[in-house]
Amino acid sequence: MHELTLARSLIELVDDYATQQGARQVRRIHVRLGQLSAMTRALYFCFGSASRGTSCEGALLDIEEVPLTVNCSTCKAVKAPSGRYNFRCPDCGMPTPEVVTGREMQLTAIELGPLSSSETAPAAALSGDQRGEPDANAAL
Ligand SMILES: [Zn+2]
Repeated sequence: MHELTLARSLIELVDDYATQQGARQVRRIHVRLGQLSAMTRALYFCFGSASRGTSCEGALLDIEEVPLTVNCSTCKAVKAPSGRYNFRCPDCGMPTPEVVTGREMQLTAIELGPLSSSETAPAAALSGDQRGEPDANAAL
């Protein structure tokens, strides 16, 4: 999948959710992304421009990278291959095409609410009428 497509579909999903919840602003998005997708950097990169004009604009993108593991049918165990594209068991050297983790692309958490200047503020209850002011906060 193209990274911009990924960023957009992610934002669309979050935006829909925010609308359903009556929130105008998303504060934080947490995503689990498999190492195999190799999207982490690209997603960070695309997020800013792709989220412009949506409820996700200015939101913090939190990406948890999930390492690649494969199932070795010879050892009957889950292993972590030495390289991202090296689908061989590190112990017996047999090909291990069965990917266990590393392909994830999961939206795990969304924090709604206006962007606060102090990150230490307790999670504010959704008041619904606080409009997040689009400001010069877009610099990353
Ligand atoms: Zn093995």
